[in-house]
Amino acid sequence: MLTDMCNLRCPYCFASEFVGKKASEITMEDFKKALEFIADGKEKIDKFGLIGGEPLLHSRFAEILELLLADDRIQTVSIYTNGLLMHRYMDLLKNQKVHLLINYNPPEILGEENEKKLYQNLKQLYEVKKEDALHAIRLGINIYKPDFSYEYIIPVLQEFGFDNIRFSITVPNSSIASLQDAHAYYQSIKESFLKFYKRILSMGVLPMFDCNKIPVCLFSVEELEPIFYAFLKYPEIVMNERHFLLSEWSRCSPVIDIQTNLKAVRCFGLSKESEVSISDFKGLEELETYYDKRFDQKAFEIPYQVRCEKCSAREWKQCMGSCLSYRVKENEIACQKQKEDVWQRESLYERYLKCYLKDRTFRGITDEILNIEIFHAFVEKLQKETYSRTEIEPIYEKVVTYKKAMKQAKEDNKKHRMES
Ligand code: SF4
Ligand code: SF4
Repeated sequence: MLTDMCNLRCPYCFASEFVGKKASEITMEDFKKALEFIADGKEKIDKFGLIGGEPLLHSRFAEILELLLADDRIQTVSIYTNGLLMHRYMDLLKNQKVHLLINYNPPEILGEENEKKLYQNLKQLYEVKKEDALHAIRLGINIYKPDFSYEYIIPVLQEFGFDNIRFSITVPNSSIASLQDAHAYYQSIKESFLKFYKRILSMGVLPMFDCNKIPVCLFSVEELEPIFYAFLKYPEIVMNERHFLLSEWSRCSPVIDIQTNLKAVRCFGLSKESEVSISDFKGLEELETYYDKRFDQKAFEIPYQVRCEKCSAREWKQCMGSCLSYRVKENEIACQKQKEDVWQRESLYERYLKCYLKDRTFRGITDEILNIEIFHAFVEKLQKETYSRTEIEPIYEKVVTYKKAMKQAKEDNKKHRMES
């Protein structure tokens, strides 16, 4: 975290308890310490992230970025920005090592002038990045209330030809979130979330979860079915369970933020409970292990809701039940066991299981990538209703072919790593 200053005041910002309070920024000396802590003696850092507040507000931002660009260990520098100050640093931002996630806020947050500025900056960035632009720039939006707006971003995605968008389901920090029921919150935004999700997919743009993926058990088969078919157009994302709505994956691996005072947090949402000084750890790996034991593993061990008790997604450490911000109470991971009848519907898992037991035909194909029960529920429905087996076979063929290619690529990679 370069600075806690920001030039916007977004209503959803879960770093708001840091942002703008002390107007502090990291010193060059401390930045170098943080860099070595993250490098942890390694020869290669795949991705080095710069966040804020608004990171481009740091008074020595150019110097920091130059330092990272000259560091051969770092493969990619990812900058998380609201985009309003990018025009100041175009010469540096055009470097191939720089990737940007631009939080493309709606007009009601930006105001007219900033809205124009953001668009112009994006246009300029797109031009300087040239053929690298679509790979190095990603737009992000935030889902922070049931009636959140997203139509404003559609013409922007279309004009520049982005084929994906990152979206974040925002959460309050743990002192507020821990008093709430995460599943009730997910239910409250589900309808508008699904509208947004389908709208984006229908444009041929892939919606990618940031973190805080809504557990798949909160959707009905009827809700998921159209998304399943839409996704068949994009086998590459079907294989990436982190971003695939139908997968059981709903967890976050230690995301660690190092603040301007060299204190780390497991995530801003857990700032109070997880703050530690990096000087107490040898390096990033030791800190990750500490957070993993203290928060992540407990989140799997302790079921969040009654429904999670016997859920294989929890047992296989695929689903934490909810974002950890909702789960930390008095410094410990807590459960929020609600009666199942809160949702007044048959347990999806029972339904999936029934389908699964009837037909195992496609198991080998989807083991690692899909919520297998949901997949079989669709298979069941497909076979019983509209489609014949011959009609659906090509769909599975497509999945199998892609999966084989992925497996081969993984093996080649492993072999290559071992050889080198
Ligand atoms: S705890 Fe995990 S899911 Fe929740 S906001 Fe932080 S990184 Fe995202
Ligand atoms: S662990 Fe809980 S929230 Fe996650 S999929 Fe299973 S039942 Fe749903």
